[in-house]
Amino acid sequence: MINIIGIGPNRENITLSAFEALKKADVIIGYKKYIEFVEDLVEGKEIIKKGMGDEIARGELAISKSLEGKNVALISSGDPGVYGMANLMFQLINKYDNVDVKVFPGVTALNYSASLLGAPLHDFAAISLSDILTPFEEIEKKIEYAAKADFVIAIYNPISKKRKKPFKRFKEILLDVKGPETLIGIVDSSQNISKTKIVTLNQLNEDDINMSTTLIVGNSLTYIENGFLITSRGYVVKSPIHPLSNEFYTKYLNGETATGSNVDCDFYPCHSELQCCDFCYCPFYPCGDGSTGGKWIKNKNVWSCEDCIWIHKKHTVNCVKDGLKDILKEVSDLKTNQKKLLKLRRSCILKTKINKNKE
Ligand code: SF4
Ligand code: SF4
Repeated sequence: MINIIGIGPNRENITLSAFEALKKADVIIGYKKYIEFVEDLVEGKEIIKKGMGDEIARGELAISKSLEGKNVALISSGDPGVYGMANLMFQLINKYDNVDVKVFPGVTALNYSASLLGAPLHDFAAISLSDILTPFEEIEKKIEYAAKADFVIAIYNPISKKRKKPFKRFKEILLDVKGPETLIGIVDSSQNISKTKIVTLNQLNEDDINMSTTLIVGNSLTYIENGFLITSRGYVVKSPIHPLSNEFYTKYLNGETATGSNVDCDFYPCHSELQCCDFCYCPFYPCGDGSTGGKWIKNKNVWSCEDCIWIHKKHTVNCVKDGLKDILKEVSDLKTNQKKLLKLRRSCILKTKINKNKE
């Protein structure tokens, strides 16, 4: 029997089932650094440490030990099915009769990194920049499509001493598709204690990363708050319609509100030069999502839109107005259709932010 065991990113994050499987094993096989993580759990067992790049040799050795009747633990860091040993083992065992394998999942580098950064994951893609086994054009295409689809993107193997070109190209593609302000969480696990940093794409440079770094690229709804990287899921914050908003949308539905820049307003410009005033009162209020600049005023239960200039941009206004035609027929829809409104907000963020640098 071969148990392919994901030991997670470090000793503290090993799962209980992986822990139990290691205890029952007769032979432990793995890359030497990973075995060192669990040395105390495998004392007294036959231990075979191998170097990096010996994956096939490790796999064949596990099979031959298993054919001798031994209970083998083949160790992967993270999860065996995510750039680990599981895929290879399922290919190798087809050469033999009577080799049983079982996969024990582990905490992946992307889950671990995301938890250190905050909560950046929503719909996401994981891409390895290693072109050792994968053609470079395939990697380029995956980065481009994941960025265009607005996935949060976890990047594995971003760079090595000899392999710098994929990282350079990754930056170029993201700059082109998403723009320089794209947020990126960096988790460096090369030392015993992982270090985190959050930068914009513009600030990301080679000195910040190494072979043990995982990058989490935010999507158009990702923002930073209190030092954490967060991607909103779009939950509705229940709230009554404010009397001033009620008054505004009564006029809006009658076509009586200002369009474009309302230079006659005493407060103009309340947010930025050339702002559009079409949504002086935001139909999404309170969105509860900091990705466009809003935030809670602490301990007051009040959502502040002071720093949101997104709703006053021309492209945003056009997108929102278009979507409102089907959602907002009467003022009470601001409350009853709150979920639909937040989905409209999300879709307009995607349309306006993802192509931002091409406008
Ligand atoms: S958005 Fe600001 S500047 Fe424009 S009408 Fe409203 S308060 Fe005045
Ligand atoms: S103005 Fe901006 S922050 Fe405020 S509710 Fe609307 S979208 Fe959210």
